[in-house]
Amino acid sequence: MNTNESTVSTGATYTTQMDAARKGIITPEMKIVAQKEKMTEEELRALVACGKVVIPANKNHKSLDPEGVGSMLRTKINVNLGVSRDCKDYDVEMKKVMAAVDLGAESIMDLSSHGNTQPFRQKLTSECPAMIGTVPVYDSVIHYQRDLNTLTAKDFLDVVELHAKDGVDFVTLHCGITRKTIDQIKKHKRKMNIVSRGGSLVFAWMSMTGEENPFYEFYDEILDICEKYDVTISLGDACRPGCLADATDVCQIEELVRLGELTKRAWDHNVQVIVEGPGHVPLNQVAANMQVQQQICMGAPFYVLGPLVTDIAPGYDHITAAIGGAVAAMSGAAFLCYVTPAEHLALPNVEDTKQGIIASKIAAHAADIAKGVPGARDIDDKMADARKNLDWDAQFACALDPETAKAIRQSRMPEEDHSDTCSMCGKFCAVRSMNKALSGENIDIL
Ligand code: SF4
Repeated sequence: MNTNESTVSTGATYTTQMDAARKGIITPEMKIVAQKEKMTEEELRALVACGKVVIPANKNHKSLDPEGVGSMLRTKINVNLGVSRDCKDYDVEMKKVMAAVDLGAESIMDLSSHGNTQPFRQKLTSECPAMIGTVPVYDSVIHYQRDLNTLTAKDFLDVVELHAKDGVDFVTLHCGITRKTIDQIKKHKRKMNIVSRGGSLVFAWMSMTGEENPFYEFYDEILDICEKYDVTISLGDACRPGCLADATDVCQIEELVRLGELTKRAWDHNVQVIVEGPGHVPLNQVAANMQVQQQICMGAPFYVLGPLVTDIAPGYDHITAAIGGAVAAMSGAAFLCYVTPAEHLALPNVEDTKQGIIASKIAAHAADIAKGVPGARDIDDKMADARKNLDWDAQFACALDPETAKAIRQSRMPEEDHSDTCSMCGKFCAVRSMNKALSGENIDIL
C-alpha cells in the first residue's frame, strides 16, 4: 500500500476524498457531511467525485469536524484570523478562533504575518474543529525572513509542503496570473490594478525576477503535494476587481478562464478544488459572474470575498458584502469569506470580527432559504412560532446572536403589566392583540 493512502474498513484504499469518491468509497468524512447536509451518502459521494462538492480534510488535521463545500449544500463562511505584530499572543488569537467557530464559522483562514507562524498553525490543526486554510505566499516572506526578490520557486513550493504537513485543509494559491497578466494590467489600465494581497506579491515577484509565476509553472509539483496530504486547492483570484469600475473586465475573465483549465488539471490528479471570485461587483452583475464561473470552472465550488456591491461604505462593508454575498450564494457561490466593518480601514478587532461573522451568516442563511436547502428554513419557522407566542426565551434560542438580542430587549423593557410584549409597540402589540382576539379574550389596551 502507498503510505499516503487511507484505508476504510473494507480494506479499500484512497488518497484524497475525490479519489475515494471516484472509487465508490464512502469515507468517514463523507458520512459526517452527508448527515449534516441531510442527503444520502451516495448523493454526496457522486458530487465529490465530479468536483461539485469538496470536503477539505487534510489527513494531518486530527481535530477536524469535516464540512462539505458546494453550491447545493449549506453555504459555508470563512473567517480570517492569525497572529500579527499587533496581536502576537497565541492564546488570545486562539480564543478569537474558537469564538468565531461558536458563532458559526465553518472555516478559519490563518493569515498570520508575524514571527514564527508554524506553532500557531499547528495549534490550529490540533485544536480547531473548523477547516483551516492558509495563503502560503504570504507566509513565505515571514518564514524565510528574506525579501521577496531573493525567494526562489523552490522556496515557495517548500512552504506549500510545510503547510500541507502541518495539516492545513486548503491553501489559496494564485496560480492563474502569468507573465501575460503583467502586459494585460499595463494595457487595460484598471482603476485599482491588483488588490489581492497574494496576487500582488506574485505579480511583484514576477516583475522583479523576470520569471514565470512558480505556482503556475510548477503546478504539477503542487498537485503532488496536495494529493499526498489531501489538501484542497483554493485557486486564488489575483485579478479580482478592487472597485466597481474594474468588475467583470478582461483581466478578471482571462484569469478565470485559466482557473478553469487549472481546475481540470487538478481533477485529473484527484485533487479537490475551490475557485475564488470577486471582489467589488455591481449588484446587477453578481448573478452573471456566478453563472460564468460555474460554466468555465465546470461547477467547482465558488468562494467569494463579498462581493462588495458599492465602493463608498467604509465602516459598513460587512453590510455591503452581505448584500452581494446573499445574491452570490443564491446564484451559485458555495463559500463566503467574511468582511468586517474594518475592511479597507484597519485590522479588525474582536467586535469587528463578530459583526463580520454575523453579517456573513445572515447572507449565507438567506441564500440557503432561497436555494431551498433542505431544512434551512426550519429555524425561521421556529422563530415565527416563538414570536407568535411572545416566548422571548424561545426567540433568543433561535437568534443568530442571542446575546445581542437579549441585551437590546432587556435595556428597553415595556411597562410592567405588558412585559410579555416589547417596547416597540407596547400596549398596541399586534401579536398580543391578535392572540387575545382570536381566543375570545378582552384586549386591555388602556
Ligand atoms: S410590541 Fe410590536 S414589535 Fe414587540 S412583539 Fe409586539 S408586535 Fe412585535
